[in-house]
Amino acid sequence: MRNGFTGACLLMLAAMLGALAPARAQSFIEGRFDPAIPTLTAVVGHAPGTRITSPDQTYAYLKALAEAAPDRTRLVQYATSWEGRPLYYLVLSAPANIARLEAIRADLATIASGRPGNGTALPVTWLAYSVHGNEISSTDAALMTAYHLLAAQSDERAAKILTNTIVVIDPLQNPDGRARFVNNFLAATGIVPDADRQAAEHDEPWPSGRVNHYMFDLNRDWFTLSQPETRGKVAAIRQWNPVVVVDLHEMGGDETYFFSPAAQPFSPNLTPAQIRAYELIGRYNAAAFDARGEPYFTRETFDLFYPGYGDTWNAHQGAIGSTYEQGSARGLVFARRDGTELTYADGVTNHFIASLATAAAVADNPQRFLSDFAAYRSANAAGAAGRGTYVIDLGKRRWNAERLGRRLAAQGITVLRREGGATVCGKSYPAGYLAVPQAQPAARLVRSLLDRDTPLPPDFLAEQERRRSVDLPHELYDVTAWSVGPMAGVDVSLCNAAAGGEPLAAEAPIAARTSGSGSFAVAVPWTDSGQARLVTLALREGLEGRVTDRAFAAGGRSFPRGTVVFPAGSNGPEKMARLAELAREVGAETVAMESGWVDSGPNLGSERFVRLTLPRVAVAWDEGVSQLSAGSLRYVLEQRIGLPVTPIRTRRLARADLSKYDVLLVPEGNPASVLGEGGARAIRAFVQRGGVLVAVGESLEAFSRGDNPLLAVRREAALGRDPSEADGDKGELAEAVAITSDAEYREAIKDQAALPDTLPGALLNVVNEPDHFLSAGYDDGAVVLATGTQIFTPLDRARGVNVMRFAAARDLIASGYVWDENRRQLAYKPYLMAQQQGRGLVIGFAHDPSTRAYLEGLDLMIANAVLVAPSRVR
Ligand SMILES: [Zn+2]
Repeated sequence: MRNGFTGACLLMLAAMLGALAPARAQSFIEGRFDPAIPTLTAVVGHAPGTRITSPDQTYAYLKALAEAAPDRTRLVQYATSWEGRPLYYLVLSAPANIARLEAIRADLATIASGRPGNGTALPVTWLAYSVHGNEISSTDAALMTAYHLLAAQSDERAAKILTNTIVVIDPLQNPDGRARFVNNFLAATGIVPDADRQAAEHDEPWPSGRVNHYMFDLNRDWFTLSQPETRGKVAAIRQWNPVVVVDLHEMGGDETYFFSPAAQPFSPNLTPAQIRAYELIGRYNAAAFDARGEPYFTRETFDLFYPGYGDTWNAHQGAIGSTYEQGSARGLVFARRDGTELTYADGVTNHFIASLATAAAVADNPQRFLSDFAAYRSANAAGAAGRGTYVIDLGKRRWNAERLGRRLAAQGITVLRREGGATVCGKSYPAGYLAVPQAQPAARLVRSLLDRDTPLPPDFLAEQERRRSVDLPHELYDVTAWSVGPMAGVDVSLCNAAAGGEPLAAEAPIAARTSGSGSFAVAVPWTDSGQARLVTLALREGLEGRVTDRAFAAGGRSFPRGTVVFPAGSNGPEKMARLAELAREVGAETVAMESGWVDSGPNLGSERFVRLTLPRVAVAWDEGVSQLSAGSLRYVLEQRIGLPVTPIRTRRLARADLSKYDVLLVPEGNPASVLGEGGARAIRAFVQRGGVLVAVGESLEAFSRGDNPLLAVRREAALGRDPSEADGDKGELAEAVAITSDAEYREAIKDQAALPDTLPGALLNVVNEPDHFLSAGYDDGAVVLATGTQIFTPLDRARGVNVMRFAAARDLIASGYVWDENRRQLAYKPYLMAQQQGRGLVIGFAHDPSTRAYLEGLDLMIANAVLVAPSRVR
């Protein structure tokens, strides 16, 4: 990382030359090493820092370490990735501790429940690596840390760490991403490692190794638990109750090293004791880096606000959760802009040094960390973070409410379930409720997830407004809203009394709701994500369904528009029995209809009911669209709704046979240049022939340009700007203008074509156009996530329908922080648009409804656009 050679660099060079005793390069710290513990070289054939160790090599080495030191290790598989790769953690401690590991774990569980322990517990330091698969050095650092703790005979600190603490190493949180990176890297390399950042070995193809199989950022998934890697990890961490959790990442290669204390803003749900502990750990890291003359920074860029990161989620459980960041060589050697070279070994060394320093901080202060953790959990259990109860209504979006309850339970949160009618805090819940008490050990996570708003610190906000006033970018790192109730589309109220119920288990199946046998038909009311899943699975099994865009009432109950009816006559008894089975598997609601007679609204034979068939769905894939958006759209359609999609590479769309598809999804992105004129023509022809185009976010621009756009909306410049001023021909000489104040000066230098200020991310209210089938399920409006700079003009009535539009300015914000100009400009602007073109339909979402898969409340809107629309336009 500097111009001088470090010991590690020399060792690496020696190993790369191949001739000089690679056996010496065992660790990054000199000393005596136990020959009974196998080196990385001995097991996988390369010395530490000289190659990017692959997932398979990582597994081989973990197993070799565990086999060589059974008295000091436990190797546990905690999850399997989408692509079938195992995820392991390795427990390390002294033999006496490993021998009583279960007793230690049990005592930690007692402490975590808010009760006093019996003195058996030891503090657990949890070190997690490579959650972003292309942040490569950290996995190798994990292996070196494990080796060093087991083999270093002349490092007293290593012995103390094993004696006083338990270290859990999770070396590979995203094996699919790392495998993708390593494969791409190897495929691009030549006879020498290339330092040029432009070289293919540093420049990953789409999708990058950062993300997992469904292209999720696993460091945003901790409270959503949408991915198997995260679900396994959260369950594992809950079993161990660590006092310190470190998530080791990489950042841009021109950067140095970052460790805590983190940057502002901090979540208001952190405690003063936690903030003091960050300082302590920071000083241990600083001392270790200072001793090596290694540069680092703290308190900048990486904040502690959004609770879905590895650092904050664990901090909200009472651990000291940190992010560490190493400048990435993104390969074996990287030429920095300052003229120095960063090697892979440099990165591995730094993460290794920080891992050991952090574990040492806990080993030197085991009682302090344990008692802080115990005090945190017991104070919360006693009501330190509130004594109220969040009540989730099971009468609205029942399936999503049930799922939300299980997701909270999976995070160690106590959720009580009350079946049947009840009244709490003067509000009646005829369908029952879920109750989440504030007084519980995980209270601060509960508050962060269920409070409507988590306020940003006022001084931080004031500074951001000051920065904006002088045209500097704001410093918010992620979204400012994540309230899980509105995101799931469910109703959450905070009540000041207790509410009883049976404890809900995370793995409890959702019970189906059925009534009658349905001699005439079975109706699936269009009310929540489970209903959309049932309809999709039924269509996939060949059932015949009919969907209505009008509400109706029959047999004494009402059915919302969007309801799908499966007639017994056209399906036959076998398929109807299969429908009942699927409803049980999904936990969906079905209503038997004994007759075609309705009390109001359309009958089944009305033209307001159309035959619903399973659509064939293609999604634009690869360069030109965002991997996160393509991945989460595919995930929501396939994994939640149950609808398979076919990815087609964006550059192929110009010559693809789109007649095989009913829907083409174009995720968030900037596809115009990759599509080219040929692609644009092919998509227009697809729509004219009767296809449904669904475009998301900034991708709308690709279809809203020119004289005859597929979607007649335009992107807006920032409020108070005049884009026509920006590029007009103004003649040779400029008009003379006297500038007499700061305000006039700012006006004179204003970028007239500037886009609206970037919205970091807030939950906003949208209202519906009640007669359009695309808004079925949203008669009460919806809460959406808006981020970025895109604001579109509304469609005029002659061209199309603004199916869902943002609420008036005063009603706009559901949760989070929104710049005031954004709030005023977004009011009444379209969120979901539809325009007929030829025999087809163009649907636009101004913002991605599938982001991070955490807006389950928008699943019906996605299903309306993808599952239902093709049958409607036919
Ligand atoms: Zn990262």
